[in-house]
Amino acid sequence: MNCPYCGFHDSKVVDSRDVNDGIRRRRECLSCSSRFTTYERLQPASLFVIKKDERREEFNRDKLLTGIRKACEKRPLPTGTVDKLADDIETKLYHLGRSEVPSAVIGDMVMDRLKDLDHVAYIRYASVYREFADITALKQEVDTLVGSEVSASLPTSQLPLLPDDRLGELARSRRRGEKSGRRKTNAKTGSRR
Ligand SMILES: [Zn+2]
Repeated sequence: MNCPYCGFHDSKVVDSRDVNDGIRRRRECLSCSSRFTTYERLQPASLFVIKKDERREEFNRDKLLTGIRKACEKRPLPTGTVDKLADDIETKLYHLGRSEVPSAVIGDMVMDRLKDLDHVAYIRYASVYREFADITALKQEVDTLVGSEVSASLPTSQLPLLPDDRLGELARSRRRGEKSGRRKTNAKTGSRR
């Protein structure tokens, strides 16, 4: 395992703990002393994906990752979000305990997660995966999303009133403060003049 910072080939383990299905190791590079994390996981029994045309293809995490990454391209998502999503879905798939999983099941899992994460990414993914037959089908999907977005943001739509009120109050108290604490204000503005 080469150091991701300087490429040195040796490191020491500074911490090790069990996580879910594996072991997480905190390592320190013996050359530059940078710290990084490695995971040791059991290679699960192979899992096959049943394609739409009934062909079987071995599950490929990179392929899953590429699809999600494309959908999330240039979206304002925190670093690591895409990898985490792929990890979660991979784990979930193996936990199904089946040797074959229809590609539709995987697609639905991804869409489920993207729907909560980023609507643009969701629509992008859906447009590839669902192959919207026409613009009407796409519009329906977008309308559904917009509908859920509006209802989800309703309770918070009243929030902007609060800061405005506070601003007004602040302005009023500042005006009051000008009268009572004139000496202070003058000292400040006086230095500027
Ligand atoms: Zn290093």
